[in-house]
This record gives sequence, structure tokens and C-alpha cells, in this order.
Amino acid sequence: NQFRTNDIRTENSPLQIFVKAKKKINDIFLEIDDYVDDTVRFIGSLRDDHNIISPPEVKKVESYTDKVQGIRDVLKRDHMKVAFFGRTSNGKSTVINAMLRDKILPSGIGHTTNCFLQVEGSEGGEAYLVTEASDAKQPVQSVGQLGHALCKEKLCESNLVRIFWPKDKCLLLRDDVVFVDSPGVDVTPNLDDWIDKHCLDADVFVLVANAESTLMIAEKNFFHKVSTKLSKPNIFILNNRWDASASEPEFLDEVRAQHQERAVDFLAKELKVCNPKDAEERVFFISAKETLQARLQEARGQPAHNGALAEGFQNRYFEFQDFERKFEECISKSAVKTKFEQHSQRGKHIATEIRQTLDEILERTQKMKSEQVNVKKEVHDKLNFTEQQLMILTQEMKDKIHRMVEDVEQRVSKALNE
Ligand code: GDP
Repeated sequence: NQFRTNDIRTENSPLQIFVKAKKKINDIFLEIDDYVDDTVRFIGSLRDDHNIISPPEVKKVESYTDKVQGIRDVLKRDHMKVAFFGRTSNGKSTVINAMLRDKILPSGIGHTTNCFLQVEGSEGGEAYLVTEASDAKQPVQSVGQLGHALCKEKLCESNLVRIFWPKDKCLLLRDDVVFVDSPGVDVTPNLDDWIDKHCLDADVFVLVANAESTLMIAEKNFFHKVSTKLSKPNIFILNNRWDASASEPEFLDEVRAQHQERAVDFLAKELKVCNPKDAEERVFFISAKETLQARLQEARGQPAHNGALAEGFQNRYFEFQDFERKFEECISKSAVKTKFEQHSQRGKHIATEIRQTLDEILERTQKMKSEQVNVKKEVHDKLNFTEQQLMILTQEMKDKIHRMVEDVEQRVSKALNE
């Protein structure tokens, strides 16, 4: 039985938490936008009546249009960001390629990443790169060409080159995950600059360590700095090149336990970013190179494992998949919280303020209406009174005239008789 690595990723991938939340919050903001539009139009129709609405009120309501538009623009662009750090040649680019299931980033000798590379999804099947220096899209046909394009650019280590790769080629890109590869932390980095420029909006950090050695001061320092600038960053530690352990099976368990303990201590005791139990779930022993090879083979319709791989491949492969699952859960939950929580608060705030303004206007008009009713009532009462007076008066006049006529009649008939 040939071992199959085909892990079927379905719609219930944990990344869907983010994808669905993004759709929902975008729909809600579309409704808020309509609500603001209606209110602006309504208030506009009242603006000439200064007794009902004041000019500052009109301005305030109109200002929500731009605010909501601004939030909607940001929301459309929001994504999940994962940044990879570690020493040169630990396998950062290979890990990213394995996750993307394709050789997208150049890796290996002669292809040291000397600047920040960001891989993100492009619509419409186009593959191209964009540098900080120009907005021009440089088409990318192959990894070789990408490596060449990166070499010929005069890039400073903290520069960013954005690589756009067709979304339909990779589920992670389709689901809005953006990958950032960094130059090795051992390359005299200007850490503060790196962190300010590339890390403040990262949802997850992955430290790609070399299982053949221990964590280096440079790697630890970097994460110490990150955790001073971000509160409790999500950090995963990948002990890569674990395939090398196959050649020394007698030490395997011992070496693994030692790496595991040190990594957990680093996360829980040194950085204090999580408790020891959670830290256990953040450390993995993998071989990015094997995983990438297996996935490339499968993409060609061939078996993942042709027998030439080192002992223990299946376990390492499963562990890579386990890492991916936990990573997806972590990044989507974290991104929903950091990216959408603030926006939903602002949306709520805008909706509440508009409602308050409309309530105030309603209250004001109701007050005006009841005042008018009172005035009407007063006038009405007065009219009634006058009418009654008039009636009384008319009656009295009638009686008087009546009496006068009678009197005259009597006097006339009396005179006639006489
Ligand atoms: P980066 O500088 O950290 O991005 O490292 P690269 O991804 O460019 O990898 C450096 C070299 O290590 C390449 O030749 C890779 O093929 C190799 N490599 C990466 N991952 C593994 C692994 O898991 N096992 C082994 N044996 N080699 C690996």
C-alpha cells in the first residue's frame, strides 16, 4: 500500500472562520452604508427648516459617509498575515513553498533571501511582482526568473517585494493568507525597523529553527523585541530538517525532548506569550523539504513517497499537516479579533450615533407638534367662548326685539282701539 499524503482540504478549513467573518462584516458595513445614505438624504430634505435641524447636525451626519467608506476600503483589503523568521538557510522559503504546495520562492544556495518577500493572492490568474520603488507589475513566469529578478534589483534588507500568485493555484492564498519571508535574523538586521515595517500587523509568527542545532541568541533576541512591541504575539516554532534525525535514530527521542523543552521554555518562561501547556502545541518537528517534494510529486499524479526518503517520513509529514491545521485555526481566530473587533465597535458606534441624532430630531418635531396642538386648542377654546357669547347675545337681542315688537304691537292696537 503506497502511502498517500493527499490531505483533502474542504470548505470546513479553519481559515473559513476568517473568510466567513470577513464576508459578514463587509455585508454589515454595506447595510450601514445604505443606512447612512438614507439618513443623509432625509436630513438633506430637512436642512432648509432650521427649526428642525441645525447645520452642525447636518455636517455630523454627512461626515459618516466618508468614515464608513474608509472602513469599507480597509475591510476589503484585510487579510491574515503570517511572517517567517529564523537564521539563513534554516528553510524558511522551503516551509512557505511546502505550505503553498509549489516552488514559488527561490530557495537554496545562491538564493539567500536578502529582503522581505511577501506572497499574496492575485485575481485573474496573473503572476507578477511589485517592488517598493515602483508600482509597475513585473510578470513572473518561473521561480528561476523570480530569483533572477530579485538578484538584479538593488534591494536593501528591509525592503519589501510583493509577489502576487494566482489565487486559484493555492487554497491558502484564495482564503486571504499572506506569507512574509524575511532575510535571516543573523544578517545584521535592523530589528526595530523590521518589526515596525513588517511585523506590527502580523497575526502569526513562525520561527523556523534548525533541528540540527539549538536556538541561537539572534533568533531569541528577535522575538524578545517582537514581544515588547506586540502584546502576546502568536508564535509557532518549527524544528525543520528533522529528516536529519533519521540518520541517528538512537538519539532521536532524547534530542526531540531536549528541543521541545527548550522551545516550550522559550515561549512560556522567557517570552511569556503563553502557558507551558499551550506552548507544547506550538512546537513541531518537520521536514519542509520532504513535504514540498511529496506535494509536488502528488501534483504530478505520482505517489508522494517513492521509497528513497529517510525513515520516519510519514510521521514528519503528519506533523507538518498538524502544524498547518493548528496554524490555520490560530491565524483565522487571531485575525478576526485583531482586524474586525475594532471595526465592528466603530460600526456599532456610528449606527448608535445616527440613531441618537434621528431620535433627537423626532423628539424635537413631536415637541413642536404638541406645541402647535396646544395653540390650536387655545384658539379653539376662545372661538367656542366667543360663539357661546354670541349665541347668548343673539338670544338676548332676539328676546329684546321680540319684546319690543310685542310692546309696539300692543301699543299700536291700543292706540287703534282708542
Ligand atoms: P532560508 O534561507 O531559511 O529561506 O532557507 P531555504 O528554504 O532557502 O533552505 C536552505 C536549504 O536547506 C535549501 O537547499 C533547502 O533545500 C534545504 N532544506 C530546507 N528544508 C529542509 C529540510 O527539512 N531538510 C533538509 N534536509 N534540507 C532542507
